[in-house]
Amino acid sequence: METRVLSGRELAQKVLEEAKRKVEKYVSCGRRSPGLAVILVGDDPASRIYVSKKHETCGKVGIRSFSYEFPENVGFDEIAECIHALNERDDVDGILVQLPLPERLRDRTNELINMIHPAKDVDGFHPYNVGLLAIGDNRGIKPCTPKGVMLLLDHYGIDVEGRDVVMVGASNIVGKPMALMLINRMATVSVCHIKTRCVSHFTKDADIVISATGVPHLIKKDMVKEGAVLIDVGISRVNGRVVGDVDFDGVMGHASAVTPVPGGVGPMTVAMLIENTLECYERREGLLNSN
Ligand code: NAD
Repeated sequence: METRVLSGRELAQKVLEEAKRKVEKYVSCGRRSPGLAVILVGDDPASRIYVSKKHETCGKVGIRSFSYEFPENVGFDEIAECIHALNERDDVDGILVQLPLPERLRDRTNELINMIHPAKDVDGFHPYNVGLLAIGDNRGIKPCTPKGVMLLLDHYGIDVEGRDVVMVGASNIVGKPMALMLINRMATVSVCHIKTRCVSHFTKDADIVISATGVPHLIKKDMVKEGAVLIDVGISRVNGRVVGDVDFDGVMGHASAVTPVPGGVGPMTVAMLIENTLECYERREGLLNSN
């Protein structure tokens, strides 16, 4: 069987070009540029790379980005004050706290996320936006990675309605919101996590498997049926190489489609962050449905 490689690069580029076109249009009409504030705590090298990519992409589409960096030993209240100040600022449409936080602050992640005004919650992690997603109300801001996966599936004509989908990984950032979006689109969804006794018991009959665990090459050929669609969200480093959760080479010729790592879901996530920032701006400026 020929395996389609579902690249996210060109689609993400198209999303960014559309965002740039909109920003240029708004600015040429005399409006201010959209603004995104990114809070980074500590010195995690991977987080630093992700944050710089976000700033760089904002620059490319004409979104102003504001950087707030705190040392690992920062007090909780100092970050909280920063969020409160950003909530009040007119020139800031989106606020995100880069996750994961350093170990010392990790169990207070939700407390910080809850402080972000839901209308500026570009990551879609605030309980208000999570709640809207859970009840299938489209007015909320949706988390970037699962939103990017849905767009990728739609773009490649992979319909999830009525299909058996297995979500491997159940984090608040990827697995849980992904499962909700799939249910909202009438897929039959199973969710596996670290305590699942036998992941392959669920994946072997699935039409679509989405994996977000960070375990390199967890999903192998013998765990999925012939013709399955495999969406790989995982990002790990093995011997200096970036690899995903799916054994990409092993599933070639067996799966009907697979996303590459890098170049699959990753670029979609950044593109969705830009789309969400623009959406927050448009709502705050009363511009929605006027383009
Ligand atoms: P997380 O650590 O918060 O969650 C991992 C989930 O996987 C948990 O639910 C855990 O129970 C489950 N899990 C771990 N090992 C497992 C196993 N052996 N079998 C079954 N389930 C297992 O991580 P996260 O933030 O959800 O990210 C997951 C992966 O996706 C990471 O590699 C991360 O770097 C990557 N990621 C990529 C993007 C992107 O844009 N491509 C975005 C976010 C996260």
